[in-house]
Amino acid sequence: MGVFEEEPRRLGNGQSRCPYCGLLQDRVATLEQDWVLLEPDMAPLAHTVPAEHRWIALSDGRVTVYGVCPPDPFQRCRIEHRLACSAQPLPDLWPWLTTLRGENARQAERQADPERPERPEEWPDVG
Ligand SMILES: [Zn+2]
Repeated sequence: MGVFEEEPRRLGNGQSRCPYCGLLQDRVATLEQDWVLLEPDMAPLAHTVPAEHRWIALSDGRVTVYGVCPPDPFQRCRIEHRLACSAQPLPDLWPWLTTLRGENARQAERQADPERPERPEEWPDVG
């Protein structure tokens, strides 16, 4: 493994290696005076990417989160490398789905609970 660059802010736009997986990622300045690490050579259609993860390039080369809703069907966008990085946990891309899954898990638990202690004989014999 090589030496990872520190202080990427000083270097402006360019590429750096991901400290987690070692692959190259594009370091791009954002409108908010900061920078973001984007997946290189990857421009999916914006509507296929969760809203807050769509980065689009501006005329001056900086990027910003694409705020048009609903998205233009032909608009392409960039995504952060961390979403594509095999060595980092995937962030919660669909928070409302995560909430729904949590609610369903509780509902399934409530449904299953009363049956288990009452009729254990109904379970198939696995002997
Ligand atoms: Zn990575």
